[in-house]
Amino acid sequence: MPGDLDIEQGKTQNGLEMMDRERRWLLDMVKDESDQQTIDQYVERESILERDLVLANSDISSQKIETKFPKCSTYKTAHGIFNFFGRYSEAAMKNFSEVSEADIVRICRFLKCTDSIPQIIFNIFSNSRDKQMADPFHSPGKASARYDEMTVYRVWGKELIQVSFPHETTHIVAHSLFTPYKLKTVVDTADGGTQEIEAAMVGTAFFQEGLAITLNEIEFGLKYSSPTKEEEFVDDWVRQGIKYSGWHFNLREMINMDGFDKYGSPIGPAVAGSFCKFLINQYGVETFLKAYQQLSELSSTEQNITSIGNAFGVDFENLSRNWISSLNN
Ligand SMILES: [Zn+2]
Repeated sequence: MPGDLDIEQGKTQNGLEMMDRERRWLLDMVKDESDQQTIDQYVERESILERDLVLANSDISSQKIETKFPKCSTYKTAHGIFNFFGRYSEAAMKNFSEVSEADIVRICRFLKCTDSIPQIIFNIFSNSRDKQMADPFHSPGKASARYDEMTVYRVWGKELIQVSFPHETTHIVAHSLFTPYKLKTVVDTADGGTQEIEAAMVGTAFFQEGLAITLNEIEFGLKYSSPTKEEEFVDDWVRQGIKYSGWHFNLREMINMDGFDKYGSPIGPAVAGSFCKFLINQYGVETFLKAYQQLSELSSTEQNITSIGNAFGVDFENLSRNWISSLNN
């Protein structure tokens, strides 16, 4: 999968697991014994908010503290817990939490699931390096959704200044709607390598990406961006890709992850976004979610194609043809 897969296993997380993850992250960052002692003291504490207390009593130089232990503050809203690992002002953190809370509610309204709004954790880092260290998959992406923790890991700082960033939040909300299945897969890591993981999944990667991109466009008016091209609305992107950049793709093949991965960015996400936007606009979000729920990476492409046809009441070839002609109108 190119870039970030945005998936992980399981769903619930208790405080102990949180501490364990924190511990692993911190251990990754320390090398000498005196630091190790400080980490042990920290890990024994019950709350991450107490990290500063431990540090205040430690003999680690302030410069080392600055680089190894970014300041952490926690804010809570009705549906979000926001852990800030970085030096932000109180006003900025409060604003970030309120804006993100409003995004969660807006996404749930779009998906018609306001009666079961999930609780989402946001771990916010001021730079990519810290985000990658803390992210259980060490993904190089600036924002990642980790389903087993119902957590968004993201950068908020010079490298990514937007407060509202509904893409990953959409992944988490959509994931919370259905019972996940387990999938073994390989993801990219920050050091340029790969890592095998078992991930909780709902739907297929194509539909997950397509839904997040569509919701970003329709509900938030946000264009899709890729490292290789300036941001663009996905329909324009696909139209221009076909016309000027010689894009050739087999939509059928993309429905399952192997095919979706093969095309990479920007073709994969742009096509997923454009096709899913067409489906939602034509058939409504309830019908779209019916299909979303039935799709699985464990099913063959043929099975998934049949499920799509059944959910929309139109066979896949017709859906595909109608989508392409909608782009040309
Ligand atoms: Zn995504």
